[in-house]
Amino acid sequence: MIINHNISFKKLFNRVLLLQICLFYATNALSWGFYAHKRINHLAVFTLPSEMNRLYKRHIREIENLAVLPDQRRHSMDEEAARHYIDLDKYELKVLAYLHYDKAILMYTQDSLQQHGIVPWIIPMMQKRLKQAFLNRDTLQIIKISAELGHYIADAHVPLHTTSNYDGQQTNQVGIHAFWESRIPEMLQADLEAWSMPATYIIDLQKNTWEWILEAHTYVSTLLQVETKLNARTKPVNKYVFLKKGSILNKTYAPAYAKEYHKLLNKQIEHQFNQAVQHIGNVWYSAWLESGQPDFK
Ligand SMILES: [Zn+2]
Repeated sequence: MIINHNISFKKLFNRVLLLQICLFYATNALSWGFYAHKRINHLAVFTLPSEMNRLYKRHIREIENLAVLPDQRRHSMDEEAARHYIDLDKYELKVLAYLHYDKAILMYTQDSLQQHGIVPWIIPMMQKRLKQAFLNRDTLQIIKISAELGHYIADAHVPLHTTSNYDGQQTNQVGIHAFWESRIPEMLQADLEAWSMPATYIIDLQKNTWEWILEAHTYVSTLLQVETKLNARTKPVNKYVFLKKGSILNKTYAPAYAKEYHKLLNKQIEHQFNQAVQHIGNVWYSAWLESGQPDFK
């Protein structure tokens, strides 16, 4: 009996621990979910002209799978996390916006930039590496860098990657980050409308990157306010459900609550999702053009 009791206590303890771990990850997996990152990179391939997309289509699985590599690296590389966001509310926007990295370092110091996130600058830096890979005709690097670059561009389109209130922790809405960028896209899947145009050339990537980030930032207040109002008129019992994944229990937003939130956001998530797809295609395409349009048979 004692042994049994110990075993069940151990099981219970493990379950509680697992539940805590799941809740922790549900609120700390701060990036488009794995599903969305892979899907965004996948769709970006189809914006490319045929001379170029032959290579990308051949390696589409790697383009999808490596899309999540930067998030996986966050736990093992100290400097990785800062590449995924920027806390715009920590700056005087008029001064910061449109700065290049070398100017920003002089004004704010590298430590301070690192502390508040560097996503506006990692994108042009990665594109430079991609151009070099094209010049070297290094297929392995082209695919790896393209996939990772896709990740950072996608993150730059997530409004909550542009604020220090990144998970609603300052507004009593903890969990909203993964709700917006993981739970809803995963729930919608094929119902998430996808649209994109053929890739176009970007003349000034640093300027465009800033425009994407500044636009994403304008959606922060709406997405927080909409959730506050929806929360106020929803009984707590209807807000969350526990979903079992294998032997793990996940506390997550109820499907009806998620659908209603998505409806009230009026295609905000779709808009950002599709903008990300388009801009990734544009960035890859521009790197290829600037490297002399190498042909991939
Ligand atoms: Zn990320």
